[in-house]
Amino acid sequence: MAKIIVLMGAPGAGKGTQARLLQERLHLPQISTGDIFRALKNAQTPLAKEVRELMERGQLVPDELTIRVVQERTAQPDCQNGYILDGFPRTPAQAASLEKLAAEQGNTIVAILIDVPRELLEQRMTGRRNCPVCGEIYNMYLKPPKFDNVCDFHPEAELVHRADDNVETVKARLATYEKQTQPLMDYYKAAGLLRTVDGTGAPEAIYEDVLRQISA
Ligand code: AMP
Repeated sequence: MAKIIVLMGAPGAGKGTQARLLQERLHLPQISTGDIFRALKNAQTPLAKEVRELMERGQLVPDELTIRVVQERTAQPDCQNGYILDGFPRTPAQAASLEKLAAEQGNTIVAILIDVPRELLEQRMTGRRNCPVCGEIYNMYLKPPKFDNVCDFHPEAELVHRADDNVETVKARLATYEKQTQPLMDYYKAAGLLRTVDGTGAPEAIYEDVLRQISA
């Protein structure tokens, strides 16, 4: 039975970093709803504009649209042997849809919470930078690139700062998380479905824990 690896945790917890490592090493596709919505950046349609505005305010994109995006993406042939979800589900309705999807696809869900205390999250997010070519994730405070503001692997590429990683939007995103996603985590925990790893250490150490939990 193929696995759906669901990475959960607050914004800035390191879901994206772990999802990238898992993708590289387990050869499973990483599906990040945040990345999918960010890819609408330049689209000039009313729907793309609405999504952009919600993201800028640190609010969630409506469930119906988010669920459809995940259904369509996970129906692609590369998801046949399982896949990694990063940033989905974030609401009870999304969690219910994922259970239905898993049953239809004959997959099992492994949900892993990357646990990071609130006081670390803001610094992680405001310091975050990405390579526009390969997507490598850096942090100006915690994991700076070798040379100033360029990717270690693509020195021609200036690192980019996510539009929603500014202090104001970060606070709104954390509030959204506490209000809308935290209850979902409590539900998963109570049902005994959630495995927790300490997300405060180095990415490689966290990866080892994540892997242990996936195979447990
Ligand atoms: P992320 O990259 O996961 O932090 O997501 C960035 C933004 O995309 C969020 O602040 C939301 O506006 C939107 N988003 C990403 N995933 C979801 C989701 N599962 N449900 C609703 N909105 C989402």
